[in-house]
Amino acid sequence: MPIISKVLIANRGEIALRVLRACKELGIATVAVHSTADADAMHVRLADESVCIGPPPSRDSYLNIHQIVAACEITGADAVHPGYGFLSENAKFADILDAHGITFIGPTADHIRIMGDKITAKETAKALGIPVVPGSVGEVLPENALQIAREIGFPVLIKATAGGGGRGMKVARNEDEVEEAVSTARSEAAAAFGNDAVYMEKYLGKPRHIEIQVVGDGEGNAIHLGERDCSLQRRHQKVWEEANSPALNVEQRMKIGEICADAMRKLKYRGAGTVEFLYENGEFYFIEMNTRLQVEHPITEAITGIDLVHEQIRVASGAGLSVTQDEIVFQGHAIECRINAEDPRTFVPSPGTITHFHAPGGLGVRVDSGAYQGYKIPPYYDSLIGKLIVHGRTRVECMMRLRRVLDEFVIDGIKTTLPLFQDLINNQDIANGDYDIHWLENYLAQPAE
Ligand code: ADP
Repeated sequence: MPIISKVLIANRGEIALRVLRACKELGIATVAVHSTADADAMHVRLADESVCIGPPPSRDSYLNIHQIVAACEITGADAVHPGYGFLSENAKFADILDAHGITFIGPTADHIRIMGDKITAKETAKALGIPVVPGSVGEVLPENALQIAREIGFPVLIKATAGGGGRGMKVARNEDEVEEAVSTARSEAAAAFGNDAVYMEKYLGKPRHIEIQVVGDGEGNAIHLGERDCSLQRRHQKVWEEANSPALNVEQRMKIGEICADAMRKLKYRGAGTVEFLYENGEFYFIEMNTRLQVEHPITEAITGIDLVHEQIRVASGAGLSVTQDEIVFQGHAIECRINAEDPRTFVPSPGTITHFHAPGGLGVRVDSGAYQGYKIPPYYDSLIGKLIVHGRTRVECMMRLRRVLDEFVIDGIKTTLPLFQDLINNQDIANGDYDIHWLENYLAQPAE
């Protein structure tokens, strides 16, 4: 693979390390960037070079486009991997890198823009043959909201066009609730995103969250790597993910996967992406597409053996995909637990120093984490400190292994969400794979046993 010889990783934490590992394997030099709070971070220690790009607040460092471009120029990096979060779905950033002759390891700025606006994304998905949630065509205004809600049928969900992280979403269960739901959603959207446009969808009662991993080469070739079930969420944040979904069979998987891959071929999509659906009563409903690598990508890697960051780098450098759809074999089952530095019951962040750290090991075990003994978790960023990914030949084997691995994992000095997973692994609904997107919040609302 020519073209890319040095990658600047515009991120921090476990994902910076994840990308760095892929670059090393491909023989590509790495540049880490960091804020002053992250000078001791593992991704900085392991990179070939590092550049401090500013003070702790993200807007002054990890979101500071000028500093990142300057860091590329100083180090001679010819490509940037944005990881997830931060600048990964920022079309302007992709444009600026392009203008500087630096390769953005991700989709085109146009594709980021299309999928970043939820109304446009939904219209595009529909036109590409992807099933979408029934809802409004375009923006909903206070004056036409009631009419649209009646046409869709109650309950309805009002969502922010610029949405993200579940903000600016309101349910209206009947006609009386429409006016207030629309105005609250609009003001929340304006405050969170500086854009008060909202749209309306049929509100699904007990769906699962199922998403399809895709990768395209930008030339009209694309593959899907099956689905991930991310129904176990708290406040729209995923907590536990699995591949395959306990709810789908092989035919359903291949059918929805092929619909998504075909859509990406038509779009000439470049890079890794995830098409997210709600799934209820055997039907898929598109909600959004993420035009980046996702936190939970390792479970897909576990069941396919395909390194998604390798693929991202390949397609960004014009080398094409390393596999065709026919060559992909889905093997076994994988589960990811997101380990956050948080109280396992209240989810209050728990930054501080890790006094003891012991990662589990053995067959089928992967720990992606920048944490180590003596590491001081800075209070400025996301509380995700690591991901535990366990693979087994069957879901039962995977769960047995996960139970053993959770007992082996030691993180002292701070609170983590590990005890939550120890509870979940012993729960009958989880064992049966019988849960929807509300299950975890209902479970957490019950008093601890
Ligand atoms: P965001 O970008 O803000 O995360 P999404 O469209 O991805 O918004 O939706 C986030 C979550 O909100 C979904 O995972 C699901 O839990 C819930 N949700 C979204 N749309 C609907 C819907 N039409 N009916 C029921 N729940 C929904």
